[in-house]
Amino acid sequence: MLRTTLIRASESAWLKRQVAGRAMSRRIALRFVAGDTLDEGLAATRALAAQGKSGTLDYLGESVTDATEARVACKAYTEALDRIGEEGLDCGVSVKPTQMGLNVDAGLCRELLGEIVTAAERVGVHVTLDMEGRDVTEATVALVEDLRAAGHTEVGCAVQSYLRRTREDVERLSRAGASLRLCKGAYAEPESVAFRRRAEVDASYAACAEHLLEHGTYPRLATHDDRLIGQARNAAARLGVGRDAFEFQMLYGVRPTLQDALVRDGYRLRVYVPFGEQWYPYFMRRLAERPANLVFFLRALRDT
Ligand SMILES: Cc1cc2nc3c(=O)[nH]c(=O)nc-3n(C[C@H](O)[C@H](O)[C@H](O)COP(=O)(O)OP(=O)(O)OC[C@H]3O[C@@H](n4cnc5c(N)ncnc54)[C@H](O)[C@@H]3O)c2cc1C
Repeated sequence: MLRTTLIRASESAWLKRQVAGRAMSRRIALRFVAGDTLDEGLAATRALAAQGKSGTLDYLGESVTDATEARVACKAYTEALDRIGEEGLDCGVSVKPTQMGLNVDAGLCRELLGEIVTAAERVGVHVTLDMEGRDVTEATVALVEDLRAAGHTEVGCAVQSYLRRTREDVERLSRAGASLRLCKGAYAEPESVAFRRRAEVDASYAACAEHLLEHGTYPRLATHDDRLIGQARNAAARLGVGRDAFEFQMLYGVRPTLQDALVRDGYRLRVYVPFGEQWYPYFMRRLAERPANLVFFLRALRDT
């Protein structure tokens, strides 16, 4: 209930003005966001590299309402990829299809994603399409298929274990050779399309992870959940999948000690590093994931 309310709040323009306008909110959001600029995103990625972790840069923004905004965001990504190439960083990018104008003009979105994937291929890094709300799930899966059919091999997407359709998407996209990021899912979805009970979401995650480890292409297991990480480690060992044949992924600012422990144990660990000024919806989803984050945030606001 609280989670759903916070996720709905992430879509409110009025609340965005109240929260995002306050310096204290921004300071707290910086726990989860590297900063406003590409330089800050790259600096965070370099710091992670020094700890043995790779990165995926996310230029914050979503649900754009005109083509110009989408083109500006695309340029931010191609610039980021040029810099990644110049610096030789072990860092891919994560892109939201609605930031590339999916809801404005699907053809434009496909064109811009093509530019980003081409720029990524030039510097030899991977592009993951973030998975957003259920209204764009099928379109996102189809975009990956379309880009791959056009010869782009370094593109995949996230899949959400809370969606009932995901098991089939995992099989469908694995057949297309796509490297997938498996996460639980961060949006508010109805029971008709999504599992609502934690046990069901986790069981779906474990089953999809096992399928990816056995049949998928370089699985990217995105979770901070100790139990699911343990199950994935066991499944990989049982299936004889080497520690360099898949990776764990976590969010910037979340469970850094667990990240370090996995690196020490010889696992690959990639951190999702968001940067940019449009941090409000991303930040609200992070609050929704953990009630303690919300309590901390509300106390800080009260005390300013
Ligand atoms: C690299 C990466 C990429 C992602 N991409 C997408 C995407 O494309 N689409 C999408 O819908 N979702 C995405 N997510 C978010 C994901 O769907 C979950 O909402 C989020 O990861 C929390 O789920 P969990 O698996 O960590 O398990 P949970 O059960 O939520 O968390 C397990 C434990 O991790 C810690 N934790 C989790 N979240 C937080 C937090 N915000 N702050 C502090 N501690 C926390 C807590 O200790 C918690 O007990 C992504 C997550 C990661 C790690």
